[in-house]
Amino acid sequence: MEKTNLSENLTAITRSFPNPDCLLVAVSKTKPIAAIQEAYAAGIRDFGENKVQEMTEKEAALPKDIRWHMIGHLQRNKVKYIVPFVHLIHSVDSLRLLKQINKEGRKINRVIPCLLQVHIASEESKFGWDEAELIAFLHGEEIDELQHIRVLGLMGMATNTSDTEKIRSEFHGLSALFERLKRSELPSQVQMEELSMGMSGDYQIAQEEGSTMVRIGSAVFGARNYT
Ligand SMILES: *Cc1c(COP(=O)(O)O)cnc(C)c1O
Repeated sequence: MEKTNLSENLTAITRSFPNPDCLLVAVSKTKPIAAIQEAYAAGIRDFGENKVQEMTEKEAALPKDIRWHMIGHLQRNKVKYIVPFVHLIHSVDSLRLLKQINKEGRKINRVIPCLLQVHIASEESKFGWDEAELIAFLHGEEIDELQHIRVLGLMGMATNTSDTEKIRSEFHGLSALFERLKRSELPSQVQMEELSMGMSGDYQIAQEEGSTMVRIGSAVFGARNYT
């Protein structure tokens, strides 16, 4: 295993941010509690996980001022385990999932902060809303019934490619959609404030294109053995 110095990694990453105000969400999936404690000691409070069970186990074992971000595809039957504590669900990729989050939020009388994940990559496998569907939903009536969710913005993942111009154009498109929605009339439970885009390999491009939060795993914690 590669030896990493976490606090040095963190300093180097944040120094290389084109936008110093962008929030770094440290993606700790597959990493042990000890690694999160090390990042916590270095001042990080926002952590991203992509599996419900892993997130709930870590949440139970770690300080309560950590803000837990769900970033991975979320199954509807598992929503109930995270709604009591999750800080932000980045990966709301369908209306069915959003309705389930609303239902579980209502049960515990909590409004759940969400981002809508938009499909911007050319890969088939990436989850998310398409642009037309998203616009129709945000300006439609179905959202009026969802009073236990708060949509705080959008999330997207670029195509996994070394073609930086392609990555840039995908982020640029998402950012343009975000800005356009921001200027439009939106229901009270929607505030277009956060744009979650950028990972270890593309966070600088993402920030140049307007990202407000980046989700960085391997550049902080070192390579993962599995994903
Ligand atoms: C794993 C993951 C990341 C972080 O990826 P790195 O390349 O390790 O920075 C970001 N976003 C999502 C949705 C992920 O699943």
